[in-house]
Amino acid sequence: MSGPSTPESNPSRPPGRRHRPLPPWAGPGTWLVHGGSRADLNAGAVVYPIYQTSTFRYPSAYSEASTAGEVFLYTRNRNPTVEGPAEVLRGLEGGEAARLFASGMAAVTSTVLSFVRSGDEVVALTDLYGGTSELLQDLLPRFGVRLREVTDAEARSPEGLFSPATRLALIESPTNPLLRVHDISRWSAAADRVGAVLVVDGTFATPINQRPLALGADLVLHSATKYLGGHSDLIAGGVVGPRSLVERIDPGQRFGASLDPFAAFLLHRSLRTLGLRVARQNENARAVVTAIEHHPAVAQVHYPGRGSPEEEQIAARQMQGRGGVLSVSLRGGADAAERFLARLEIIEVAASLGGVESLASRPAATSHRHFAPEELARRGIDPGLVRLALGIEEPADLVRDVTQALDAASAYRPS
Ligand code: PLP
Repeated sequence: MSGPSTPESNPSRPPGRRHRPLPPWAGPGTWLVHGGSRADLNAGAVVYPIYQTSTFRYPSAYSEASTAGEVFLYTRNRNPTVEGPAEVLRGLEGGEAARLFASGMAAVTSTVLSFVRSGDEVVALTDLYGGTSELLQDLLPRFGVRLREVTDAEARSPEGLFSPATRLALIESPTNPLLRVHDISRWSAAADRVGAVLVVDGTFATPINQRPLALGADLVLHSATKYLGGHSDLIAGGVVGPRSLVERIDPGQRFGASLDPFAAFLLHRSLRTLGLRVARQNENARAVVTAIEHHPAVAQVHYPGRGSPEEEQIAARQMQGRGGVLSVSLRGGADAAERFLARLEIIEVAASLGGVESLASRPAATSHRHFAPEELARRGIDPGLVRLALGIEEPADLVRDVTQALDAASAYRPS
């Protein structure tokens, strides 16, 4: 019995409109919609199907391989559904190769462990996502790798931070949760001098607002759970860079941190609207910053470029948009912050960021909750710091929600 006719099974069918590479003049918005689609493998389906299988029939894999030049054997190693969004992310970041992982943390762990060995040193910012900091602090000493954590002030002159033992440097820009901006080109030049690999976690910026590889980073890393996934319904991670480096990251997938095909399908679908979502999120964050920066309840607004005039220059140079996240230090500490969160009417109180819905959280109680008070102080995270990750709702509604919650937080007087 013969199966459905596909271009592979019916060689007499003219190629017609099947799988053509995009023309070189196609821009990022077009790439997001059409990139990574391989209709030749999927009976011509316009939307990439989910290959929800753990394994592939061996001879059939070989016969398809003869057409497509590819072999799929086992999903922990390769799965077509996972390769679709990996290709979109690769093209968007302008790298040679991309790998997707089961989470952003899986991308961090797999990358760090693949480049260091006993006796090496890793340089990392103090102001990083709490999970990343904890991982580096816990894991590296156990394998004889020294961690050099650098404060924001030290990170302004990266040239002095590297030693001949430095194998890898990990920075975020903007950082989580203080939204500090670091000069990626300058970090890249400093890392190059000692042959260290510079990894930039670009989660907050997204490739719409910033392309670290073009600025000299060796690898760009994402928690795809955030903006790339964009709907708070999946966990994923990604790394993009030159093939020679990406292929060194856990080559046999022995860490087992592979992305599941269903999550990959959701990610691929979400990437199609990344440009539209991020443009709106940039706009919404800026509207909220402008509306609240002089509010009496606000001690300080943290937003990319606001740290100092130097940071403003760096942000203007390396970012196309400033992203959808800001943090606010409230007068009155944790109590004021909790009152503010309790009064929000639209914005959900939850950890994470990058989804279509706006979220608010207090880093001292969520992403950085495992740190002792002194450690939080060292990291510049005060108990009254609230992180706002704006979604795609109406800008005026978000401004109104944040403003009324600030009014309520500052009007409160304990009896
Ligand atoms: N990097 C940054 C900047 C993050 O904010 C996060 C999570 O919040 C991660 C990495 C970890 O990603 P995941 O939660 O997908 O493991």
